[in-house]
Parts: sequence; structure tokens; C-alpha cells
Amino acid sequence: MPSYIFGPVPSRRLGLSLGIDLVPFKTCTLDCIYCELGKTATPVNLRAEYVPFAELEIEIREFFNNNPTAEEIDFITLSGSGEPTLNTALPRVIKLLRQFSKTPIALLTNGTLFSRPEVRREVLDVDLILPSLDVVSDKLFATLNRPVDGLKSREIIDGLVALRREFSGKIWLEILFCAGINDTPEEIERLIQAAATIQPDRIQLNTVVRPGALPEAKTVTETFLKQLLPRFNPAAEIIAPFNNHGANRAVIEKTKETILATLKRRPCTVNDLKNALGLKKVEVIKILDLLLEKDEIKTQEHGDKHYFQILDDFNN
Ligand code: SF4
Repeated sequence: MPSYIFGPVPSRRLGLSLGIDLVPFKTCTLDCIYCELGKTATPVNLRAEYVPFAELEIEIREFFNNNPTAEEIDFITLSGSGEPTLNTALPRVIKLLRQFSKTPIALLTNGTLFSRPEVRREVLDVDLILPSLDVVSDKLFATLNRPVDGLKSREIIDGLVALRREFSGKIWLEILFCAGINDTPEEIERLIQAAATIQPDRIQLNTVVRPGALPEAKTVTETFLKQLLPRFNPAAEIIAPFNNHGANRAVIEKTKETILATLKRRPCTVNDLKNALGLKKVEVIKILDLLLEKDEIKTQEHGDKHYFQILDDFNN
């Protein structure tokens, strides 16, 4: 089983996405309180070949040589368990993927390293960049995204403005709102201004849909998000629930059924499911998202752990 390639998995923003994980678990410049993967032990900003290119190359070659349905996916997504631009092998990976596949390449990033010209240069050949920007004020940046020492929110915004100038592909900016943190009128106004300066092709609003690293990460209502949409330029959209796609629907359905069958026996954490079913954590999370959206499961806290249960268990 490949360890750096995962999926294809359903993605709320990208349809059916084949993920490529470029960094070891939670290697990130941030430690967002809503992070679905849990806490970042120590945020870093040093770039390195965290996953060696040679290992990635073996898996990529193997995957595309052996996978006849590889062209049916909507996006190859550079993402995974942390910040992919931290890996200096990024441009070589993009070049290799282009040799094997015509599928569009997306980069899911927290955008923190685009203030560096070399990082902007390295991503010019992808089709779509999905950066996130949740706050403008540094005080809230420290509360919500808990960055590596010295990183300022202004740097990220300036980096994204420069990226927009230099990158001819699409940019979809995500803003995630946490109740009681970045949902004040002042911060919203600052975000609207920042987004207008960045000029992304799309602005996508989001909120916490499943338990994050800390219980302080609280969801905002759909009504709140809806009334913000027209205030952004271009008008924002709420990230829509995933629509299943034909060809790989069977694979997703099968994983969903296995997870539901496991949860029927007992409530599980993400790690329980990952270990029991031999899946990648990211894959488990994506399917759980799908089940949460469809109200087939619920979460419950016990101590510092988040458990997932099928809805029936809650009604009994
Ligand atoms: S940037 Fe992404 S991976 Fe990093 S801590 Fe935030 S949510 Fe998690």
C-alpha cells in the first residue's frame, strides 16, 4: 500500500481527488486550533526534503503504471498531513506528475511561504492553488493559527498578492470562521479588504465541520456565512457538500460501509479507524466528513478524545 499517495478520496472542494502527501504527519508552519489532524508538535518554517523525492518518485511511477482509472480523478492534489510547500522536492514532483498524467494538479496550502519568491516560482506549473487565510490581525493569528515564531499575517497577505501577479492559474481562497474568534465585524471587514487585494478567482467560506485540535474551535452558523457571501469581491461561496462521482463511487461507498460497520460495533476515534482498517488518516477523515454531512454519524467527546458513533447509538 502506498504511503504517500492516498485515495482517490471525496473532497468537498475538488470532487474526486488523488492526494499526494509531501510531508510527514503534522509538519506545518501553523498549529491551527481547528486542525482536523490534531496538534502540530512544533511549527516549522525550514524547508527541506521532508519526504525524499526518490521515495515519492517510486510511488508515483508505480501508481500511474498500475492504475488504469487514474485519469478518472478530478484533481491530483498536493496536500496531506501538513504544509506541502515545506518540501523542497515540490517542483520535481510537479514535473514528474506532468509526465504521467493530464489530470489537473491542485495545491492545498496554508499560503504561509508565498512571501518567498522561490516558493512562488516552484508552484507556477500547477493548475489551481487553494490557499487559506483566516485572519488579518496578528493577535487573532496567534489565537487561531498559532504560527511558527516570527511569522506575521501581513507576510502571508503580501505573498498571496505577489502570487496572484505571477501565477496564471486559478486561485481559490478559503476563509475558515471559528465562532467567537474571527467572526467580529472588525475582523470580517479586514478579511474583505485583504481578499479584495489578493484578487482570487474564488472565495470560499468554511467553518469547523468536525472536531479540531482544540474544543475552542467552534462552528459558526450557515446563516452567518450566507449573509457574508455578497460582501466579498468576487462574491464568496460556501464550500458545498461533495457530490459522488460515477466511476470511483463504488470505492468510496465500500470504504463508507466498512467505516459504518466498524462504528456499529463500537464508537471509534479517527486513529482507531485508521489502525483497524489500514487506511490513511486523511482518507478516514474525508469519509467521516461525508457521513457527518449526511447526518449518518455524530461525534462525542470523552476526556480529550473525539469519538464517532452512528446516529442510532445516540437515539438509544
Ligand atoms: S495549516 Fe492545515 S495542516 Fe497546518 S495546522 Fe493548519 S489546518 Fe492543520
